[in-house]
Amino acid sequence: MMDNTVLIAGGGIGGLATALTLHQIGVPCVVFEAVREMRPLGVGVNLQPNAVREFYDLGITRADLDRVGLPAKEWALVGLNGNDVYSEPRGLLAGYEWPQYAVHRGHLHMLLYEKVVERIGRDAVRLGSRVAGYRRSGDGRVTAQVEGAGGSVSEVDGALLIGADGIHSAVRAQMHPAQPPIHWGGAIMWRGTTWAKPIRTGASFVGLGTHRHRVVFYPISHPDPDTGLSMINWIAEVTTDNAEGWKQSGWFRQVDISDFIDQFEDWRWDWLDVPALLRNADCAFENPMIDRDPVPTWADGPVALLGDAAHAMYPTGSNGASQAIVDARVLGAAMIQHGVTHAALAAYDAKLCGPISQLVLRNRGAGPFGLLNMVDARCGGTFDNIDDVIPPKERADFMAGYKAAAGLAIETLNRAPPTIPKGARVRI
Ligand SMILES: Cc1cc2nc3c(=O)[nH]c(=O)nc-3n(C[C@H](O)[C@H](O)[C@H](O)COP(=O)(O)OP(=O)(O)OC[C@H]3O[C@@H](n4cnc5c(N)ncnc54)[C@H](O)[C@@H]3O)c2cc1C
Repeated sequence: MMDNTVLIAGGGIGGLATALTLHQIGVPCVVFEAVREMRPLGVGVNLQPNAVREFYDLGITRADLDRVGLPAKEWALVGLNGNDVYSEPRGLLAGYEWPQYAVHRGHLHMLLYEKVVERIGRDAVRLGSRVAGYRRSGDGRVTAQVEGAGGSVSEVDGALLIGADGIHSAVRAQMHPAQPPIHWGGAIMWRGTTWAKPIRTGASFVGLGTHRHRVVFYPISHPDPDTGLSMINWIAEVTTDNAEGWKQSGWFRQVDISDFIDQFEDWRWDWLDVPALLRNADCAFENPMIDRDPVPTWADGPVALLGDAAHAMYPTGSNGASQAIVDARVLGAAMIQHGVTHAALAAYDAKLCGPISQLVLRNRGAGPFGLLNMVDARCGGTFDNIDDVIPPKERADFMAGYKAAAGLAIETLNRAPPTIPKGARVRI
C-alpha cells in the first residue's frame, strides 16, 4: 500500500495545528523542527474567534486555553489626550459564538506540543531537524532534505510536504527563488511582559498613541487570585525613516528597557503609567515590524506553504497565529475532499492564497490601526470629541471592512458550517 505520510517542515503554531488536524482526519504525518528543544518562547498573541472555533473542533478546550491565556473582552484605541478613538466588545461579548483569546505564545506552543505528543506520539516531532529543501520525485511524491543537529543530512520521502517553517522559510525560498528580501516599513517594536493590574474591562486590548508612536498592551493571563495582577503583554512602537533599511544584524534581540524608554517617559495619566509598565518588565525584545511581499501561489505540486511561510504579516490585525490555525484546517478540509494529493494542495491554495495575500497588504496599511492614521490626517492627532473627526458610522464601517477581509464578520462566521465536519476522515 502507498505510504501517505505528510512531511511538515516547522513545529511552530502552524505546523503543530497541521499535525493535530491531519491526525484527526486519519492522515499520518511527521514534523521536522529545527530547534533541539521546545521552549515556551515569545510573548502575547491573539486567537481570534475563527481560530478558537477550530481549536474547539480539534478538542482543545476552553479549560486548555484558560491555562495559557484569557478571553478578550474589548479592543480599544485611545488618543494621547486619553480619550477613546474607538472601542468595541470582542469575542462572546461581540456576539461571536466563540471567544477571542489573548494568550502567551510560548505557553500555547507548549500546549500544542503536549497534545501532539499525547495523541500522535513523541516521534511525531523530530527535534533538531532542519528542512533545507525539497525535490519533487517523478512519481508525484516529494523528498525533503533534512539537516540533523549534528550536521548529518538525510533525505526523507513523503506523499506531500507542508512548509510551515515561518517567515524565514527555506521551503518558500526554494519555491519562489526570486522573492524579494524581507520587507520592513520603518516601525520598530519593543516587546515585553509585566505583572500589573489590568485596566478597563480587565481583559482589554488597548492601542494608545498615534499611528507613528504608540503602545499596545493587553493581559495574557487570568488575574492571580491573591494579588489581582495579570501578566500584561506590551508592545512599545515607534516608526522611523526606513530609507536605509534595517541596520541591526538579526531580526530579534534582547535589549535594555533604557534603550527606548525615554521615548515614552512622559506617557502618564491618572489611569495609566506607561513608563512604570515598561520598567517593571523582566526583559524586553526589539524587533522590526516585518512581513513579506505576497507570492502568486503557495503550492508547487506536492508542496504547499502554510502560516508565516505563506503569509508573514504585520501584527496590526492580531491575526498571524489565527490565520496559521485556519490554514491548517482548510488544508485538512481539502484533503477530505481530494485525498492526500496535489489536488488537495491546489484547492487549499485556490481558496486562501489570493484573499490572505490581500490581508497581508491591508495589514501593511496599518490594519485596524488605520483609524489612527485617519485621526492624524484629519486633525494632527489632537481632538476633543472624536465624533467631530471621524463620525461613529465611519469608524464602525472601517472596522467592519477589516473584519470581513480577515474572515471575522460576525454573522458570516457564526453561520458558516464547521471547516471539518465532526468525525470526517480522509479515505486512504
Ligand atoms: C520563537 C518565536 C517567538 C515568537 N513570538 C511571538 C510573539 O511574541 N508575538 C507574536 O505575535 N508572534 C510571535 N511569533 C510569531 C508567531 O508565532 C507566528 O506569527 C504565528 O504563530 C504563525 O506561526 P507559524 O507556525 O507559521 O510560524 P512560527 O511560529 O515562526 O514557527 C515556525 C517554526 O518553524 C521552525 N523552523 C524554521 N525554519 C525551519 C526549517 N527550515 N526546518 C524546520 N523547522 C524550521 C521554527 O523553529 C519554528 O518553530 C514568534 C515566533 C517564534 C518562532
